[in-house]
Amino acid sequence: MSIHIGSDKQVVVKVPVGTPDSVSIAFIKEKRTWILKQIEKVERQAELAREMGALSADDIKEIRKKAKVLIPQRVAYYAELSGISYNRIFIRLQKSRWGSCSREGNLNFNCLLVLMPLEILDSVVVHELCHRRHMDHSKAFYAEVLSIFPDYKRCDKWLKQNGGVYFKRIENAGEQFLG
Ligand SMILES: [Zn+2]
Repeated sequence: MSIHIGSDKQVVVKVPVGTPDSVSIAFIKEKRTWILKQIEKVERQAELAREMGALSADDIKEIRKKAKVLIPQRVAYYAELSGISYNRIFIRLQKSRWGSCSREGNLNFNCLLVLMPLEILDSVVVHELCHRRHMDHSKAFYAEVLSIFPDYKRCDKWLKQNGGVYFKRIENAGEQFLG
């Protein structure tokens, strides 16, 4: 059984087919505090996003420009430091992810990362570079990440707490700005 809370605060509970209602309800009740906490988080993020304001087309253009310079620099720095190679770097504007690494060694990054403190951007860069050595989120993968970037856990926590705010700021950006 699993529970997911969307950015629209909709609570989705998934249970195996045939699960009695009483069991599902008990599960939801048990997770009540967690659900309320997640809803609070979504509300807090929406509030912050409203305060910071939606990003305009011009803002997005500037952010992309900055990202195309800064992100390859950070990748080059950590690649050199760790001795990890990579293929190409793609800078994208996406509404749901911060980075990814393909089997071909191409690295993708969300340009919104440049709006965050530099160490947060760096933590995502190191995360994706380490996928060149481990294509999973195993213990070995995280050990590698931490050996290159000891402050990773704090940065990852920050991103989980605050990242949603940045996605909210582009919530209404047209499709033409994405990708
Ligand atoms: Zn990953």
